[in-house]
Amino acid sequence: MYKYCLECGWQVSTSDGYSEAEVSKQAIEHFVETGHAVDSLRLPPPEILEN
Ligand SMILES: [Zn+2]
Repeated sequence: MYKYCLECGWQVSTSDGYSEAEVSKQAIEHFVETGHAVDSLRLPPPEILEN
């Protein structure tokens, strides 16, 4: 889970050591504090195999 702001450089990711719940909470807090639109991205699976 990766969330980022469309209007400033803010971002937070589970790869920073946060749980998904914490990432979501911080995104909501950023929106509430700044009014900025936050978009989210699911990280792709580590490996995609095609046969
Ligand atoms: Zn922002």
